[in-house]
Amino acid sequence: MTLLAGKRALIFGVANDHSIAWGIARAMHEHGAELAFSYASPMLERRVRPLAESVGSDFVELCDVTDDQQIEAVFAKASDQFKRLDILVHAIAFANREDLEGSFYTTSREGFRIAMDVSVYSFVALSRAAQGLMPEGGSILTLTYYGGQKVVANYNVMGVAKAALESATRYLAADLGPKGIRVNAISAGPVRTLSAAGVRGFKSMYREFAEIAPLRRQISAEDIGGAAVWLASDLARSVTGEVLFVDSGYNILGVPSIDATNRT
Ligand code: NAP
Repeated sequence: MTLLAGKRALIFGVANDHSIAWGIARAMHEHGAELAFSYASPMLERRVRPLAESVGSDFVELCDVTDDQQIEAVFAKASDQFKRLDILVHAIAFANREDLEGSFYTTSREGFRIAMDVSVYSFVALSRAAQGLMPEGGSILTLTYYGGQKVVANYNVMGVAKAALESATRYLAADLGPKGIRVNAISAGPVRTLSAAGVRGFKSMYREFAEIAPLRRQISAEDIGGAAVWLASDLARSVTGEVLFVDSGYNILGVPSIDATNRT
C-alpha cells in the first residue's frame, strides 16, 4: 500500500529505534513517503543517521528546538533539498526529571518554562516554519498523552504541557485550515521509550495497562505509525484539530480497574 506516495515528510524526535517518531517514520516509508530527519543533540547523530539511511534518507539535520536559528537552518535546508513539504511530525517533549515525580505544586518556575518551551512552543515554531513549505496544503502531527486531559500520577508538569499542546493543535488547525494544512495530535498509550523512562512509576503503569485497556494489548510504535499514516494521507482530508487516541481504548474507561474489567 502506498498511501503517501509522492509525499515528503520532515520528522523531529527520533532518538533511537524505540522512539515513537521512528515507528512513524517506518510506517510512512512503507507507504511510499520520502523522509527527512532532525535530531536534538550532536550525540544522537550516530544513532539517527544509520536509521535514516535504512529508509533511504540522507537528510539528517541537528536542531535543538529551543533555538530559533537552528529551526530556521533546518527549514532552509529542507527548502533547498525538497522545495516543498507535505508532512511535519513533531514527536518532542522534555521536562526536568525532578518535575516528573511527587507533587505537581512543587514545579519550579524554570521547570515549568522548560517543559512548555520544549514540548509546546516548539510545535508552534515548527508549524510556522513548515507552513511556508506547504503551498499546496499538508498535514502536521504531534504526539500527546492522556495525562493532558486527566490527572496521571507523576506526569505533573508534562500533563499541563500536553493540555497546552492539544489546545495549540486546535488553534494551529484553525489558523492553517484555510491554507489546506491540517493539524492533528495522536494521544498514544504508553510505549517504552527513553522519554517514558523518565516518568516515575512508568514501569508499573505500563505493566497494568494491558490488563485494564479494553483491547487488552500494549501499544506499539507501529500502531502509532499506522494512525499517523492515515492522518497524513488524503484519506483524512477532512480531519483537522483532532486528538486521536491510539491507546487500546484506555481513555474511554471512567474508573479503570483490573478487577472490574476482568469480571465477565
Ligand atoms: P523519545 O524517543 O525519547 O523521543 C523524544 C524526543 O524529543 C527525543 O528525540 C528527544 O531528544 C527530543 N527532544 C527533547 N528535547 C529536545 C530539544 N530541545 N530539541 C529537539 N528535540 C528534543 O520518546 P518518545 O516516547 O518517542 O516521545 C515522543 C513523543 O511522544 C513525546 O512528545 C512524548 O511526550 C509523546 N508520547 C510518548 C508516550 C510514551 O509512552 N512513550 C505516550 C504518549 C505520548 P533527546 O533524546 O536528545 O532528549
